[in-house]
Amino acid sequence: MADKVEADKVVFINYTLKNGAGEVLDDSEGDPLFYLHGHGNIVPGLEREIDGLAVGDKKSVVVPPAEGYGEVQPPGEQEFPKDTFPDGIDVEVGMVFHTELPNGELVPFFVTKVEGDSVWMDNNHPLAGEHLHFDIEVTRIRDAKDDELAHGHPHGPEGDVGHHH
Ligand code: ZN
Repeated sequence: MADKVEADKVVFINYTLKNGAGEVLDDSEGDPLFYLHGHGNIVPGLEREIDGLAVGDKKSVVVPPAEGYGEVQPPGEQEFPKDTFPDGIDVEVGMVFHTELPNGELVPFFVTKVEGDSVWMDNNHPLAGEHLHFDIEVTRIRDAKDDELAHGHPHGPEGDVGHHH
């Protein structure tokens, strides 16, 4: 029997991601994304829909914000002086910084604009509030190795890329 997508498998997918307006936001362009199924590597609404698929299966999935990158939360975009960032860091749009709340929770901030002596960051993921329209195709499924399971993510396409955390 052919492998099915299930927890602890490394799954390879080709995908196209569009927003609600039909604009293409991201595309694997024939270079499949791979991830460890069941470990939260991808947005939950997509991971659940891939469960049980086999190699060659195609699917269109619409993921609502709550199961994607979340609803848009205040305060939104805020301006910060550039000199609040550590020296030697070249702040660029798309970077993510984490701030620790008093309760220990780490909150990501996404850099949205850099201009003059200011940096704008948003507490919302750039795709927060969006319905994510995925067209996916499962291209490969393999067993995960022990160290991949321990880390909760794949170590390269074949599981043999060593690294330290
Ligand atoms: Zn690892």
